[in-house]
This record gives sequence, C-alpha cells and structure tokens, in this order.
Amino acid sequence: MSARLLDGTRIAEEIRAEVAESVKALAARGIRPGLAAVLVGHNPASEVYVRNKVRACEQLGLYSETITPAEMVSTADLLTVVQALNQRDEIDGILVQLPLPKPIDAKKVLLAVDPAKDVDGFHPLNVGYLATMRPGLVPCTPAGCMEILRRSGIPVEGREAVVLGRSDIVGKPLAMLLTNANATVTICHSRTRNLDEVCRRAEILVAAIGKPGMVAPEMVRPGATVIDVGINRVSDRASFDRFFAGDAKRERQFLEKGSTLVGDVHPKVFEVAGAVTPVPGGVGPLTIAMLMANTVKAASMRRGAAGGVK
Ligand code: NDP
Repeated sequence: MSARLLDGTRIAEEIRAEVAESVKALAARGIRPGLAAVLVGHNPASEVYVRNKVRACEQLGLYSETITPAEMVSTADLLTVVQALNQRDEIDGILVQLPLPKPIDAKKVLLAVDPAKDVDGFHPLNVGYLATMRPGLVPCTPAGCMEILRRSGIPVEGREAVVLGRSDIVGKPLAMLLTNANATVTICHSRTRNLDEVCRRAEILVAAIGKPGMVAPEMVRPGATVIDVGINRVSDRASFDRFFAGDAKRERQFLEKGSTLVGDVHPKVFEVAGAVTPVPGGVGPLTIAMLMANTVKAASMRRGAAGGVK
C-alpha cells in the first residue's frame, strides 16, 4: 500500500486565490490590508521566512513593510516599535518573527501586540478565544493543518487524533482546533510513556516535534492520516541514507544542494498510512497562505467588513 499524498502546495494555491478575491473586494471599498513584519537582528532562517512573507503580500496585493531593529535592541525599545505599529491605522497585521535574540523578553513583546492585529495568533487573548471557541485570530501553521484535512475531505469529527508536540506555536493550538472540530484528542510530548502505543491509536496523527524522521512505521495505525509539520535539514550522508536510500530524485537534489529536507515522519510511513503530507510541499506552504488569510481577516474585522478564506 502507498499513502495518498496530501498536496499542500495545491491547497495553499487555492487559499491564496480566495484571499486575492477578498483583497479585490476590499479594494473596491478603498481598503488595502497591511502587514508589518518585525525582524530583529540577522538570523538567516528568519530573514528567508520574512522575505517569503513579504513576497506573498506583494503577489496578493497587500501592503507590507519590514521593520528591522538591531540585534542589540532592548525589550523596552522593541515594545515601543510594536506600540507604534498598534497605533497605525493602515497596519492590520503585526508579526514579530521568532525566535527573538535571548536577552529580549519575547513573552512581553508578544503581549504588547494589539490582539486585533495579532495575525500569528500568539496573544493570550486570541489563545483564550480559541480555547473557548470564540472568533479570533488562529496561529497559521495549525490553521493550515486543519485546512489540509478539510479540503482533502478527511473527516475529523469523532476521530481519534494524536498530536505529537505541545508547543504554543503548533502542538497546543492544533490540539484545540481538533478538539473544537469534535475529534478525541491526545497530546504527547517528551515525557509521554508508551509513545508508540499511543500513536498507534491515532486515526489522525500529527507530528510537530522537530526530530528528523522520528515517527516510524510501527507507530502508525494502518490507513491513518499523518500530518507532518516537522521541517528538518539533513546534510550528512548517513542520515540521508537512513531516510532516502534508493530515492534517485532525492539523491540528485541532495548531491546538487548538499542537503535535503526531512519531516518528523520517516518516509517509510508512506507504506503504512492512508494519507500523508510530504516534506517539502505539505504543511509548509499553508503557513504563509494562512498568514495572508489572517491579515485579510484582521483587516475585515477591524474595518467592519466580511472577508478571508471560505
Ligand atoms: P518545539 O521545539 O517548540 O516543540 C517540540 C515539541 O515536541 C515539544 O512539546 C517537545 O516535548 C516534543 N518532543 C520533542 N522530542 C520528543 C520526543 N522524542 N518524543 C515526544 N515528544 C517530543 O517545536 P515547534 O512546535 O516550534 O516545531 C516543531 C516542528 O515543526 C519543527 O521541526 C519545526 O521546524 C516545524 N515547524 C514547521 C512549520 C511549518 O510551517 N511547516 C512552522 C512551525 C514549526 P516537551 O514539551 O516535553 O519538550
């Protein structure tokens, strides 16, 4: 058996097309949603993420700007930057790219973002709205996972779901979204006992742990849907062989680039699962698409208009 591939790139395209429609409808009313990204210092991965987010804004007709405080910025000065963005009417979404340099109090900074402009959905008020099933802004990656399930016709209600990982960014909010969608949800983490056994119960298994290929075929119930959130770069030959031995296409990429991406799920899981998101091309593309959707949603909510994704 070989699992059905859940094509995140195609689903993200679908969402982006819907967002573009909403942007047009807002433009007809003289509204242009705006996103401000705050990028502190010079973290190369963060620079790439922010560049991709800004490019997506341009493609969809959103206004965007990037504010780049120096690595050494103090928490107080960063709070001033965020507060200034809170005050600007043409800015509907504020994202503070994580991770922030160690000395900065990240929790304090995230708490300073106006909840109405909190397009990452990290503010405790939005977390509370999600927990109590009130309308609010939902973190992008978990929201993207739900869109993959919904748009692939995979039923959630009444299903056994296991979420591996309990971060504030992915695991916890996704567990809440699945609960709100009437799944029976178990959250696992580094202290979970009998992990393999718990995972094998899952009809929907989500891996968000940041450990390359950790989810092995024997952890997966035959026919289960597996959502792989992990993005891990593999650059040594031994690891490559452990995951991709015999995969000629991957090998060509690996030799050309000197590295390749692997999720938290071992590729051999494709032989057991019913449906799997690939890495790359699974959950990843949804994160930016949902950020665009959240920016339009924030603009619509703030300015009293309907909008967002279907
Ligand atoms: P964190 O490091 O914040 O959280 C990892 C979680 O996994 C923790 O809850 C941790 O448990 C748990 N964990 C770690 N090791 C084990 C283990 N051996 N067994 C069981 N649980 C374990 O990671 P994030 O949630 O931020 O990210 C997870 C992955 O998703 C990463 O690979 C990241 O790159 C990727 N990611 C992808 C995105 C996308 O757009 N596709 C967006 C965001 C993240 P404990 O709490 O006990 O420490």
